[in-house]
Amino acid sequence: MRRKIIAANWKMNMTQNESDSYLDTFLREVAEEKRVDIVLVPPFTALSHVSQRLNNVQNVKLGAQNMHWEKGGAFTGEISAAMIRELFARYVILGHSERRTLFGETDETVNRKTKVAHEGSLKPIVCIGETLTERDANQVEQVLEKQLRGSLAGLDAKALTETVLAYEPVWAIGTGRTATPEQAQAAHAFIRKVLAEMSDAATADKVRIQYGGSVKPGNTAELMSQPDIDGALVGGASLVARDFAEIIKLTAAL
Ligand code: PEP
Repeated sequence: MRRKIIAANWKMNMTQNESDSYLDTFLREVAEEKRVDIVLVPPFTALSHVSQRLNNVQNVKLGAQNMHWEKGGAFTGEISAAMIRELFARYVILGHSERRTLFGETDETVNRKTKVAHEGSLKPIVCIGETLTERDANQVEQVLEKQLRGSLAGLDAKALTETVLAYEPVWAIGTGRTATPEQAQAAHAFIRKVLAEMSDAATADKVRIQYGGSVKPGNTAELMSQPDIDGALVGGASLVARDFAEIIKLTAAL
């Protein structure tokens, strides 16, 4: 039985001040919730602050939105795995579609980062997903398989089981359009099949695959009850403390 994992990707939103009032509400709302893994992923500038606020909170973990694959050096504007880990973050989102399309990330760079994240004791949340053009051209499986094999190349079974995948159809991110539960389930089942080919069925069965793309309280239950959907990566709706807490409670109650 895979434990569900619900993560909030705040993207380039939330100052430290804003995070304070968010956390006042959010931490109260989810204080008793222990049935799912909860991860907050603030921008780098709020990581340290949110980390301090989570100091005595056991059931909410911290993540970063990106990192560099080198340990240190002349990489202006970049952040290393050790810098993130030092702030007690456990997770790092890698290869988000916004990073792939706006900042030139490729399967190869995501793969380098994924390996370095594991070496640095961070659990990567590796994002994959097709564009609308690719879906319309019936290329969903081809695109997902290429991204999976490229982004996860060279990971052993242990690293794979400690990797979280996020299936995020690009056309559903921030658009209000959600994949139907059937579309999402079909993609997740396909991803698990490719993972089994890359390793073995038992390993593939342990990997958690989140769905991301306009998840909100109103569509949570039907998406999260699909057999191969193991949680959600939430953008827009995660910025409203009560909505994100509601998504968590609805998932936990399934
Ligand atoms: C995301 O950016 O990972 C995401 C899923 O965004 P949204 O929930 O706003 O579609």
